[in-house]
Amino acid sequence: MQLSRLSYFADFFLCPMFAVALAVVGLFGRDPASLGEWLVAAIVGLIAWTLAEYVIHRSVYHRVQPFQGYHDAHHEDPKALIGAPSVIGIVLIFAIVFAPLLPLGLVTACGVTSGFILGYFAYMMIHHASHHWNARPGTYLYHLRLHHARHHYAHELGNFGVSTAVWDHVFGTALEAQRRTANR
Ligand SMILES: [Zn+2]
Ligand SMILES: [Zn+2]
Repeated sequence: MQLSRLSYFADFFLCPMFAVALAVVGLFGRDPASLGEWLVAAIVGLIAWTLAEYVIHRSVYHRVQPFQGYHDAHHEDPKALIGAPSVIGIVLIFAIVFAPLLPLGLVTACGVTSGFILGYFAYMMIHHASHHWNARPGTYLYHLRLHHARHHYAHELGNFGVSTAVWDHVFGTALEAQRRTANR
């Protein structure tokens, strides 16, 4: 969906704020052991985000209307400020991740949600950088930029991961891997 500059960049600021707020809410006044529990939960949330990002891009943005239509607009004009309306992503994360995890305890729910939101933030930053910034060859961003460029410009569909290429390799949608297989 085409967004105003304010709406496009709002989540870039809101996500880190929510991640910090969840750390404060989850850890305030608790014993030091809770920090370990929170960190493990945050790492789980971060990894869960990368899988969610892959599944959403592959199975929703490229298959389910009206999201496919919004995403097609991004493929047609990759530099346009197109994305999910601000705050909606964060509200959905609270509804789908935070609320169901609350029965496991506030520390775990806050930790996983914080990691998930940080993953969402990393995805938005990397995706924006992939289309708007130059990356130095050899850096991780350069590798991801190339990975996403193949998603946009290759003839076959693949490379759905944006913040990591791992899930494309796990699920066999990495375009480089397919090409190597095809050449064999
Ligand atoms: Zn796409
Ligand atoms: Zn893109």
